[in-house]
This record gives sequence, C-alpha cells and structure tokens, in this order.
Amino acid sequence: MSYLVCDNCGSYYELQEGESPEDFDLACECGGKLKNKESVKLDYELDVDTKNKFRDLDKKSVIWITGLAGALILFLFMYFIINLPIIMAAVLSGLIVGLVMRICLKYFL
Ligand SMILES: [Zn+2]
Repeated sequence: MSYLVCDNCGSYYELQEGESPEDFDLACECGGKLKNKESVKLDYELDVDTKNKFRDLDKKSVIWITGLAGALILFLFMYFIINLPIIMAAVLSGLIVGLVMRICLKYFL
C-alpha cells in the first residue's frame, strides 16, 4: 500500500493499483507538498495519537494533584479545626475526595 501524504496538513491519498506518484502534481490544496510514503501507519496519525495521549495524561495528572491537595486540606481542616479524631478525618477526607475525583475523571476525560 502506498500513500501520498501532505507534509503540511497531513491529508493523504491512497494510491490505487496501477497509479504511481508521478501521475500526480504532488501539490496539496493547502499549499504543502505531497510525499510518497509506503507505510500504512502515517507519521501524522502517530503524531496526533501521541499528542492526544499527552493531553489526557496532563488532564489526569492535574485532577490527581488537585485531588491530593484537596484531600490534604480537607484532612487538616477536619483534624485541626473540627477536631475530629485523626482516623475519622483521614477516612472522611479520603471518601469525599475519592468521590469528587471519580466524578471529575468520568466527566472531564
Ligand atoms: Zn495539505
């Protein structure tokens, strides 16, 4: 399988049997150049895949860090301000933050 892939916008055309890259003028609508590639997995798709993975990872780690910070603040608040026993404060803050984070992960990812 051979493709003509635009090096600018990433759009591509699959060459049919009997067609060769020389049959085309190798200029994309966007102004980029079309290049002949043999692989089915296109560089552009790989790029997008990787970027999406990183974006998800970013979001996930932001939620995790926020959740951990929130748990700590809740714990300190319950332990020092409300004067709950340390076990109660730990369990309660864990439960609340766990619930909130589950909702966040479900709706924001
Ligand atoms: Zn293009």
